[in-house]
Amino acid sequence: MALIVQKYGGTSVGDVERIRGVAERVKRYVDEGHEVVVVVSAMSGETNRLVSMGRDIAGSRGSAREMDVLTASGEQVTVSLLSLGLLSIGVQAKSFLADQIAIKTDDVHGKARIQEIDTKALRAALDAGCVPVVAGFQGVNDLGEITTLGRGGSDTSAVALAAALKADECEICTDVDGVYTTDPRIVESARRLTHITFEEMLELASLGSKVLHPRSVEFAGRYRVPLRVMSTFQDGPGTLITTEKDDMEQPLVSGIAHAIDEAKITIAGVPDLPGIASKILGPIGAANIEVDMILQNTGADGLTDFTFTVKRQDYDAAQKILQAISRDINAREISGDNEIAKVSIVGVGMRSHAGVATKMFDCLASESINIQMISTSEIKISVVIAERYVELAVRALHNVFELQKLPE
Ligand code: ADP
Ligand code: ASP
Ligand code: MG
Repeated sequence: MALIVQKYGGTSVGDVERIRGVAERVKRYVDEGHEVVVVVSAMSGETNRLVSMGRDIAGSRGSAREMDVLTASGEQVTVSLLSLGLLSIGVQAKSFLADQIAIKTDDVHGKARIQEIDTKALRAALDAGCVPVVAGFQGVNDLGEITTLGRGGSDTSAVALAAALKADECEICTDVDGVYTTDPRIVESARRLTHITFEEMLELASLGSKVLHPRSVEFAGRYRVPLRVMSTFQDGPGTLITTEKDDMEQPLVSGIAHAIDEAKITIAGVPDLPGIASKILGPIGAANIEVDMILQNTGADGLTDFTFTVKRQDYDAAQKILQAISRDINAREISGDNEIAKVSIVGVGMRSHAGVATKMFDCLASESINIQMISTSEIKISVVIAERYVELAVRALHNVFELQKLPE
C-alpha cells in the first residue's frame, strides 16, 4: 500500500464526463489498496474566463486580492464535482478548500508561495478511509485571505501536499503521457523522456514548458518527492523526474522550451555611469515587475544602451514607469517590442561539452532567424527572437540536436 498524491489538470476535469472518468481512475487506485489524495485544477478554460472577466471590469492591474477571490473559485467547482462523482461510485471522498486544511502561503496575491501545510485534516480523512479532494492553485495567508499560486500552480499544490504528507509518489496526471523533448504540439517527432533530472526539468519549466509549474519542480527537488508526469487518459509509465546519476550517459541537449509571453524594452543613449542600472531597474522592481534578461552595451562617447525583457503583461506598465523616469536618467529614447519570444535549449550534458552554443547559433542562422539577445547558464542557452519565428526555431533546433533520436 502506498500513499499517492494525484493531480488532475484542467483538460482532465474539463467537463462532467471527464470528471466521471477521473473518479473511475481514482477508484482503481483505491481498490488496489492505496491511500490517495487528489488535487484538481479548474475546468480547462475556466481560469482564463475568470481572469478576463476581472480584467474587463478593472483593467490589467485591478485589486490582486479580489482577483484571487475570483480566480480561486474555479477549483471550488471541480473539487465538489469530483467528490460527488467519487461518492456516486461508492468511494468515500471529501472536498477541501485551501483554508479548510490549511495551506498557508505568504500574502503576495497572484503569485503566493506555500509556507506550511497542516496535514491533520487530510490525515484524519485518510485514516477514515476517505479520499481527500483538494483545491489546487489556492492558499490562505495569515490573515485568512485567499491567495493563488500563479498560473499553472496546481502542480505546486500537489507536490507541496506530497512533501507534507511524505507521500510515496506525486503523479501529475495531464493531457500528455509525459515530459517530451519539446512541446509535442509543436514538434510531432518530439520524444517522451522516460526520466529527466530535477535540474533540467526546473530549467525547462522556468523557461516556458508549461507541462510543470516551475515551483513544483523546485519543491520536489528540495523535499525529494518522487514526481511523475503521466496521462490521465491512457496507462503508461510517464516520465519520472530524478536526481542525476553519475553513470548515466547524458545527451548534450535534453529538451527545448519556448515562451511567447515576453517583451523587451530598450533605453537608448543613457549616460554610461555607475548606478544607471539600479536607477532603471529599481523602480521596475519596486512595481513588482519581474525582469528576466538584461543587456547593457559597451559605452561609446559616454553613452550606452540598456535593454531588458519582462513578461508581456507587464510591458505597458514597465514602459510607463520608464517614461516617467526618463528625464531623471537622461535617456535619449525609450523603445520596445512586445512581439518577441524566448527559445532555450537545456541539458546537463552541456557542462562537459564545448560548441553547443555555436551549433545553436549556426542552426538559427541557417534559418535566417536573427538573434536579438542571448543568455546562458551552465545547463541552458536562451535566445530572444521575433515571435513569428518561434515554431520554426524550435523545430530546427530539435532536428539539429537530433532529439527525435534520443533513446527511450
Ligand atoms: P494541465 O491542464 O493538465 O495542467 P497543461 O496544459 O498545463 O496541462 O500542461 C500540459 C501541456 O504542456 C501539454 O498539452 C503540452 O502541449 C505542453 N507542453 C509544453 N512543453 C511540453 C513538454 N516538453 N512535454 C510535454 N508537454 C509539454
Ligand atoms: N486553474 C489554474 C490555472 O489555470 C491552476 C492550474 O491549472 O494549475 O492556471
Ligand atoms: Mg498545468
